[in-house]
Amino acid sequence: MDYAGRFAPSPSGPLHAGSVVAALASYLDARAAGGRWLVRMEDLDTPRNVEGADQLILQQMLALGFRWDGEVCYQSHRLAAYESAFLQLQAYGLVYPCGCTRKEIADSVLAIHGKFPHGERPYPGSCRAGLPAGRAAKSWRLRVDPVVVSFEDRWFGPQSQTVDKLVGDFVLRRADGLWAYQLAVVVDDAWQGVTHVVRGSDLLSSTARQILLGRMLGLPVLQYMHVPVLMDGQGRKLSKQNGAQAVQTDRPLVVLEQAWMALGFETFGADDLQTFFSGAIERWAGRFRETRLAPS
Ligand code: GLU
Repeated sequence: MDYAGRFAPSPSGPLHAGSVVAALASYLDARAAGGRWLVRMEDLDTPRNVEGADQLILQQMLALGFRWDGEVCYQSHRLAAYESAFLQLQAYGLVYPCGCTRKEIADSVLAIHGKFPHGERPYPGSCRAGLPAGRAAKSWRLRVDPVVVSFEDRWFGPQSQTVDKLVGDFVLRRADGLWAYQLAVVVDDAWQGVTHVVRGSDLLSSTARQILLGRMLGLPVLQYMHVPVLMDGQGRKLSKQNGAQAVQTDRPLVVLEQAWMALGFETFGADDLQTFFSGAIERWAGRFRETRLAPS
């Protein structure tokens, strides 16, 4: 199997310590497998994009010693592909328009369950049987019939999610007209020939949705590894939204060593980027040898 991995930052700000951990894990996994490593700018959520953040991220990555294969893919150039996947799902009768506001969804979930099950807000299916009279379509949702999606995560082990119960019919096209992350990521991973997804564990709960979409679209099965995410002092995921600092690249080895230790490895005293990467790739390969070779 030809391995291809990817790092898919959103250009909503520069790289921070948490995104370096995800970048490093996916990079090491790809290089340890002798595979390609691709970069994709997830710039679909236009209100969140920050002017110039894409270039800054790429410069930070270069300064840290990351080298990617091929051209950087920009999701904003791929809108026609998302539309065609959407039309395919629509032709299968799997898509319907939804006229609900967020507040209405929250109110009906509370009315049915008394609380949000699992802390999430599954869509209660209000518009499944058709838009209520006088309502215009806001978003477009995927019909999710009762299904348990199971997969083996290469870090966290066996995973299962009852997507209809936990998430419900989820949004493919948002009320603001933008394509949803879940659809775009699945279409792009397949188009770029990605075989192995390695990313932060904050996305572990999205994976079942992505597997389901991939099946519906008849796309190849991927291998997944979710790595622990860095927390801030208050136990929240380190993210641009909660003000994580941009990574300083004047001492790249220090940044990489921190990410390496956050992945649970011990420092091995590399004194330049080259010895860091060759040592880290070798150690990574040793630790994940079996799972890396798991058949797809
Ligand atoms: N763009 C997403 C993020 O920055 C990552 C998507 C993915 O790796 O699937 O959190």
